[in-house]
Amino acid sequence: TAAPESRTFEADVAKLLHLMVHSVYSDRDVFLRELISNAADACEKLRYEAITTPDLLGEDPKARITLFIDTEAGRLTIEDNGIGMSREEMVEALGTIARSGTKAFMERIEAAQAGEGAQLIGQFGVGFYSAFMVADQVDVYSRRAGAEGAAHWSSDGKGAYTVEDADVSLAPARGTRVVLTLNEDGKTYADHFTLERIVKQQSGHVPVPIYIVPRPEDEPQEIADGVALWTKSKTEISTEEYADFYRSVAGQFDNPALTVHFRAEGRHEYSALVFVPGIAPFDLFDADRTGRVKLYVKRVFITDDAEIMPRYLRFVRGVVDSADLPLNLSREMLQDSAILTAIRKGVTGRVLTELEKLSQNDAEAYAGVWSNFGPVLKEGLYEDYERRPQLLGLSRFKSTTTGAGAEGGWRTLKDYVADCKENQTAIYYITGDLARIEHAPQLEGFRARGVEVLLLPDQVDSFWVTAGVDYEGKPFKSVTQGAADLSLIPLTEKDETPAAEAEAAQDFIAFVKETLADEVADVRASDRMTTSAVCLVAQDVGIDRRLEKLLAGAGR
Ligand code: ADP
Ligand code: MG
Repeated sequence: TAAPESRTFEADVAKLLHLMVHSVYSDRDVFLRELISNAADACEKLRYEAITTPDLLGEDPKARITLFIDTEAGRLTIEDNGIGMSREEMVEALGTIARSGTKAFMERIEAAQAGEGAQLIGQFGVGFYSAFMVADQVDVYSRRAGAEGAAHWSSDGKGAYTVEDADVSLAPARGTRVVLTLNEDGKTYADHFTLERIVKQQSGHVPVPIYIVPRPEDEPQEIADGVALWTKSKTEISTEEYADFYRSVAGQFDNPALTVHFRAEGRHEYSALVFVPGIAPFDLFDADRTGRVKLYVKRVFITDDAEIMPRYLRFVRGVVDSADLPLNLSREMLQDSAILTAIRKGVTGRVLTELEKLSQNDAEAYAGVWSNFGPVLKEGLYEDYERRPQLLGLSRFKSTTTGAGAEGGWRTLKDYVADCKENQTAIYYITGDLARIEHAPQLEGFRARGVEVLLLPDQVDSFWVTAGVDYEGKPFKSVTQGAADLSLIPLTEKDETPAAEAEAAQDFIAFVKETLADEVADVRASDRMTTSAVCLVAQDVGIDRRLEKLLAGAGR
C-alpha cells in the first residue's frame, strides 16, 4: 500500500473553491443536487459494468442513495452503493477540473469580477466542489466495485487535499461515502425535513431510490422512489417536475424553454424526454462540445456520447430510453446501429416539429430560443440537406426592415418573400458585424427601391449562404458580390439617372479602370448606391467578401 499523500489542487480548482467558500449566493441547496446526481451517476455506471461483469453486484444488486444525518456532530453524509473510486481515480476526479462546462465557467469568471462569479454559481452546475458552500471539511471514503481496499480523500477546501488508503470499516462495502462537516451556515442541512423537502424538489426523479436516516440509531426511510420520470405518462407530470428533472439531468439551473416528451411505438420502441435550455451553456461553441443526451436501454444508463442529436442541436439535453437495443452495446454498435439511426431521426424530427409549434404558439418564447441557439441551428442549413427547408422555416433574421436592434423584432423568410418587390428574383443579404453592416453603402440602392436586405451577423452565415441554398425558388445573393440587378425594380425615393449622366459615367469608368489597372477586376456603374460615390464588391464567381476574410484569417 502507498503512503498517505498531501497534494495541492489544480489552479482552476483552487480558484473555484475560493469562489465557493466566499460565495454570497443564497441558494446553497444546490450542493445536494450535485452530490446526489454524482451518486446516481455512480450507481448507473455500476449497473452498466455489471452487464458484462455481474459479479460486481455481489449480494447487493439494488442501487440506492442514502443520506445520514448526525445533528449533534453537525455532519451530513451522502452514501451510494455505486461504482466507487480507487485512490488514483479520486486524485484524478476530485483534484482537477475535468468537465468542459466547469472549465468554460472558470474561463468566464476569470475575465469577470469575483462578484459576478458568485452569481454565476447560481446559474451553472459546478459539481462536487459545491459541497464547500456548506462544509468546512469534506471527507470522501470510497471502495471501487470488486476491489479489496478503500481510499480516503479529505480537504478543507482551502487549496490542498490529502489522499490515503482508508480503514475499510470507514468506507462502504461498495461505493462512495461523502461526509460533510457542516459550516456555521450549513448546519441547517442537518435536518430531516429540510433535506426531505430539498430532495423531493430537486432530485425526486433521479432513477435511483433515495433514503434518509434522520438519526444514527434510525432505520432508513424512502424519500424518493427512483422511478424515472420519463417512464411516467405526460398527464401525471407537472411543469415543475419536468423543470426539476431538467435541472438534475442537464446540470443547468434555469427553466427549460421547451420540453419534448414522447414515446415512439411500432417498428422501434423508445421514450424520449429532452429539453431546450432556457439559457445558453458556456461551452456552446467549444470545438469538442458534443451532445448531452443520455442513452438508456430499458432504464439502464448506457452512455452520454451516443450522439443522439445532430451537431446543430447539441444544446438539447435529456434522455432517450430504448426498448430494442441490446444492453451490451459496444462502441462499434453505437456507430452503425440501424435502431440508433432510427432513434436519431425520430428525436431530431420531433424536436424540430416542437420548435415549429412553439414558434407558432408563442413567438416571444421562440425568439428567446432563437437568440440563444440560432447560430447553432443555422449550422444545420449546410449539414442537414434533408431538413434544410424545415430549418429555413425556423430561421429568424434581422434585416433592413427590422433594423439591427432588438426592438425591431425578427423576420422569417416567409415574411421576406411575401414582401418581395415585383421582379425581385433573389433574397439579398449582407454578412458582417450588425452595427456596421446596417450602414453599409452597398445597401443604399436597395433601400431606395424598398428592397429588404437580410443582415447576417454570425460566422456560420458565411457558410450556409454559399451552400446553394434557396427559399421558394429564390437564391440567396450577397449585396457585396457581383452585379446587383436592380434595374427592373423602380426607385421609390428618387428619379432614374438621366441618360446624359449615364454617358458621362462611362467616360469616368474608363478612366478609373485605367488608373487602377490590375488592382481591381472590374469597375462598373451600379444601382446599389444612392448617396455614396463608390463601394467595393466581390466578383460574381468568387466567394463572398466575409468568407474570404474568414478563410484568410484561418490561414487557408
Ligand atoms: P461531473 O459529475 O460533471 O463529472 P463533478 O465535479 O460533480 O463533475 O464530479 C467529478 C467526478 O468525481 C465525477 O465525474 C466522478 O468521476 C467523481 N465522483 C464524484 N462523486 C462520485 C461518487 N459518488 N461516486 C463515484 N465517483 C464520483
Ligand atoms: Mg456531478
